[in-house]
Amino acid sequence: MSQKIFSNAHLIEHPLIQHKLTIMRKVETSTQKFRGLLAEISMLLAYEVTRDMPMTETQIQTPVAAMQAPMLAGKKIVLVSILRAGQGIVDGMMRILPSARIGHIGLYREPKTRVVVEYYFKVPKDISERDVILVDPMLATGNSAVAAVHRIKQTQPKSVKFVSLLAAPEGIANMQKEHPDVQIYTAAIDERLDEHGYIVPGLGDAGDRLFGTK
Ligand code: URA
Repeated sequence: MSQKIFSNAHLIEHPLIQHKLTIMRKVETSTQKFRGLLAEISMLLAYEVTRDMPMTETQIQTPVAAMQAPMLAGKKIVLVSILRAGQGIVDGMMRILPSARIGHIGLYREPKTRVVVEYYFKVPKDISERDVILVDPMLATGNSAVAAVHRIKQTQPKSVKFVSLLAAPEGIANMQKEHPDVQIYTAAIDERLDEHGYIVPGLGDAGDRLFGTK
């Protein structure tokens, strides 16, 4: 079960998640190991974030008897990855949500003006009939997450939740101010951001560690 720390944030402190996260944080952990652990943790996060999915019942026949059995109701989920590190979470979540549709959103911050610029946006056509789980491993300043949620809301999905691996208090506060309706699910809330916007103690650049680009 998750623990609610901020009014909009669920801290998921399952022992398996915490153990795997500690290994991910270590500077000596390889790209291969990091990628595998992120996928494993993402499956566990998916379990928690989907806890309130609506259910229906259907009549089935087992080899022994007829029964009314539970099933997920209606069109389901769109996983939306904030590029590029969000892809590591999507890869894990897809394993237990195999029928989920996938969207991608690419954003960067213009260095001079610091305005967030969208360079890629592709989501399923029927997103208005679905619940969105927006994912990015690091909720740091929260500026990308806030911009991504604004953009996703323009497509009028049924709901939006946000999942990160690590969050800084600043990022959670930013999201709470801009999108108080969006619940955040995260495996850890670290101390602070440093002067470069990195989460401390964090795990470094999630994209570089995931794709081996540094
Ligand atoms: N993005 C990262 O990849 N790492 C951080 O610590 C903050 C933002």
